[in-house]
Amino acid sequence: MHINGESVDCESKELIKVINPATNQVIAAVPKGGKAEAEKAVDAAYTAFKEWSVKTAEERAKLLMKWFYLIEENIEEIARIMTREQGKPLKEAIGELNNANSYISWYAEEGKRIYGETIPSSHPNKRILVLKQPVGVVAAITPWNFPAAMITRKVAPALAAGCTAVIKPASQTPLTAIKLVELAHLAGIPKGVLNVVTGDARAIGDTWLQDDRVRKLTFTGSTEIGKQLMKGAAETVKKISLELGGHAPFIVMDDADIDKAVEGVIGSKFRNAGQTCICTNRIYVHESIEAVFNEKFSQAAKQLRIGNGLDQGTDVGPMIDLHAIDKVKEHIDDAISKGGEVLQGGSRVNLADGYYFEPTIISNAGDDMLCMTEETFGPLAPVATFNTEEEVIERANNSKYGLAAYVYTQNLSRAIRISEKLEYGIVGLNDGLPTVAQAPFGGMKESGLGREGGHYGIDEYLEVKYVSISI
Ligand code: ADP
Repeated sequence: MHINGESVDCESKELIKVINPATNQVIAAVPKGGKAEAEKAVDAAYTAFKEWSVKTAEERAKLLMKWFYLIEENIEEIARIMTREQGKPLKEAIGELNNANSYISWYAEEGKRIYGETIPSSHPNKRILVLKQPVGVVAAITPWNFPAAMITRKVAPALAAGCTAVIKPASQTPLTAIKLVELAHLAGIPKGVLNVVTGDARAIGDTWLQDDRVRKLTFTGSTEIGKQLMKGAAETVKKISLELGGHAPFIVMDDADIDKAVEGVIGSKFRNAGQTCICTNRIYVHESIEAVFNEKFSQAAKQLRIGNGLDQGTDVGPMIDLHAIDKVKEHIDDAISKGGEVLQGGSRVNLADGYYFEPTIISNAGDDMLCMTEETFGPLAPVATFNTEEEVIERANNSKYGLAAYVYTQNLSRAIRISEKLEYGIVGLNDGLPTVAQAPFGGMKESGLGREGGHYGIDEYLEVKYVSISI
C-alpha cells in the first residue's frame, strides 16, 4: 500500500493473494488493510489537501504531466503487470494504459480552465461572484476490469481540481494501482496527495463512508455495491459519482454496413473477454439481414485467438475467475433451454489451469433469456431479430440499465432519431469503441450517477461557492 508517500504494510500483517487468471498461480500478495489503514490514508490526504488545494493549476498540471511521462516511459512494464494480474492481452493492456494516461494529460490542461462566473446583480451596489473550489478528500473505489483507466479517470480530474485522494483498487488487481501511485510519487506529486489502500473492501469502504473528512465518493463497480455505497454516503451527505452495471444493446438496421457492424460488435463484445461495463450484451439484427450478419459474425469470432495475454497474437485472454466463467455458462445453458442455438463457441477452454472461455454466439435469442436482461460480463453474444424501428427502440430501452447502446445504420435521419430515443448515457453510432478522455462517460437509470471525462468530469470534484458582495 502507499500511504502518505510511503510504501507501508498493514497492522494485521495479513495478506491478500494476487492470482494470474491465465495460469491460476499466485503471483504476489498485498497487505489486507482495514479500518486502521483506511483512516491513516484519510489523515494523510486531509493534511495534504491544505497545501495541494492552494497550488496554482499550473503547478499541479506540471506534476501531473511528469506523472504522465513516467507512465509513458514505463508503459511496457506496467502493461505486463496488468496482463499478469488481470488477464487481458498485452496489446489491450497497452491500449488501456494509453487511454488511462490520456485522462492525466487532458485534465492537467483542464484544471487550468476551472472558470467561475460573475452574474449581474439586481442591486446597483452589489456584485455576485461564483467560485469553483475543490471539494476536499476524494475516496475512489475501483474495479478489476480496467485496473489503470478506472483510477486515472477519477484521480486525474480530482488532483487537477485541487483535491487529494484515497484509492481502494479491486483485490484482484492491486499491482497496477500500486505501480501507478509509485510513479506519481516519483513524478513529485507530494506525499499524501494520492494514497492507495489494499485490503478488506467493506472495512475500508465503511471507514471512508463514515469519515466526514471524505467529501466525495467515486465508485465504479456493480450496481448492487453502488446502491449500498449510495446509502452509506447519505450519512455524511457526500457528493457521489457512480459508474455501475450496463446491458448494452447493439442494433443493426437493415441499411447498415454489415462488415463495419461486425467489426464493431467483435471489438465491443469480446474486448477484455467481454468484461467491460459498456460491452455489448445483446444484439438486435433486422430480420432481413440476420443470416448474412450471423455468418460474418461467426466467421470473425472464429478467427479470435484465445490464450495467455502475454503471448504474441492473443486476441482473447482468460476471464477473471471461476465465478465469471460460471455466470457465462449459466447464461448459455439458460439460452439453450429457451430455444437459443449455439453458432460459435459455447465452452470453457482448458489451457494451463486458466479461466478461458470461447467467444460464443447464440442465435434465436428471446427477450425472456437471462442474457437479454442480466449483465453477462463475459464473451457471450446473443443475437435476436426485430422487424420495425419502433419495436427495436422499445426493446432496447426495456432495461433497468442505461449505460451504453450501439446503433449501426447508414441513414442519417434514422441515426439521429434512434440516438435521441435511446435511454442511454453513451450511444455508439456506427462506433463500437466510444471511450475517450474528452467525452462525458456515464449512465442513466441504474447504471449510475455523474459523468467521467470531458469538462463534465472535473465538475464532479468541485464545489460551487457564491460570494455576494456589497460595495
Ligand atoms: P465487480 O463485480 O466488478 O467485482 P464490485 O462492485 O463487487 O464489482 O467491486 C468493485 C469494487 O468495489 C472493488 O474494488 C471491490 O473490492 C469494492 N467493493 C466490494 N464490496 C464493497 C463494499 N461493501 N464496500 C466498499 N467497496 C466494496
